[in-house]
Amino acid sequence: MKKTPAKLSDIFTCARCGSCCQGETTVSLDKDDQERMIAELGLTRQEVKEKYWRVTGKVVQMKIVDHHCIFYTKDTGCTVHEGRPWRCGQWPLHPSMLADENNFRTIRESCLGINQALTWEEFCHIFKELLEQEKKLLC
Ligand code: SF4
Ligand code: SF4
Repeated sequence: MKKTPAKLSDIFTCARCGSCCQGETTVSLDKDDQERMIAELGLTRQEVKEKYWRVTGKVVQMKIVDHHCIFYTKDTGCTVHEGRPWRCGQWPLHPSMLADENNFRTIRESCLGINQALTWEEFCHIFKELLEQEKKLLC
């Protein structure tokens, strides 16, 4: 019998808790992230920089407001979804979870969306299959 291909929902379904958008710092934006965000917002680079970015030397992050990313709202979650940094899209499926069970446990504890019923081995098996299907897996 033909095996059913793995689906993202086998290992992860976002619970929309907003926890990954909270804190006093955010992921950093690489050049592609910056361009995508500028295009999504339809503003000039300078406008986006002044309104939304925290620039420290060469490091560009998003501003923090009330202990969360400036783009996060309680009602709608991420308000720049299509223009979000790739690291936001990657979360919580970080490849380091494949290398070390402790990484898996730590990330699973901080993200309710990970299928909590799976063992590390089961999780890795499905995650690897998904990465084979799509090299840059976005959640
Ligand atoms: S990715 Fe995880 S931590 Fe972030 S909102 Fe979804 S369930 Fe919550
Ligand atoms: S860009 Fe969106 S997904 Fe990323 S931290 Fe901000 S609100 Fe969350």
